[in-house]
Amino acid sequence: MFNITTPNRMKRFFALIICLLMSACFITTNGHAELNLFNGKKIVALDPGHGGHDKGAQGADGTYEKTITLNLSRMIAAELENKYRPVLTRTGDYRLDIPDRTAVANHLEADLFVSIHIGGSFLHKASGITVYYFKEMLSPDMTFKSATSKTYNSDNERTTWDNIQKRHIKRSRALAKSMQTQINNRIKYMETRIEGAPLVVLSGADTPAILIEIGYISNPGEEKKLCDTRILSEFAKVISKAIDNFLSQKN
Ligand SMILES: [Zn+2]
Repeated sequence: MFNITTPNRMKRFFALIICLLMSACFITTNGHAELNLFNGKKIVALDPGHGGHDKGAQGADGTYEKTITLNLSRMIAAELENKYRPVLTRTGDYRLDIPDRTAVANHLEADLFVSIHIGGSFLHKASGITVYYFKEMLSPDMTFKSATSKTYNSDNERTTWDNIQKRHIKRSRALAKSMQTQINNRIKYMETRIEGAPLVVLSGADTPAILIEIGYISNPGEEKKLCDTRILSEFAKVISKAIDNFLSQKN
């Protein structure tokens, strides 16, 4: 009990209550517990590839991969936000190290990690969408190289052995398969493939994780499509639908 005529005591009492509430929040701060306390929504970590001086692949018209990945990630987040809590690992045009990308997802105990990229190749005809899930290399001397002979070497293409993604590979592959089916059903002008690869950005994700390469910016026709807001919005809708399908399934 406190005396309402002694303001200092009141202040101390309210300070104590606030501290207790903060402590309660802190105890539950490890990921879901904290966030579910507030909204109960599943967390989807969206990772716009590249950023800052790391421009990624570049199209003939001067379009940078880093720009499209951020635009598309924002659109996917907008599609998801009614039902989920989308979190972007990168929210502006700056470089983010690979471990920092998965750290965002791991810190929040995200339910899903989706890295967004655009393909680039010496071959202007290279086209289509590839959905990657993590797969270990057979030899430590091997370096991952896409069958499409990319023109750039991002951190994504280095290998790692000590990784946490191994425990999620089965669900990541299922997510990749579901994403492939969903996109193939809806997007008729690009073929969607699925591939396992030792992508380091996926290796550190402690949750089901995929990397999607949406089209080839080095292909003039696909560069035009990627710069078309309506088409990008179509991609955002189909990707978010696949994410929703996956997260709506019971484990
Ligand atoms: Zn990329």
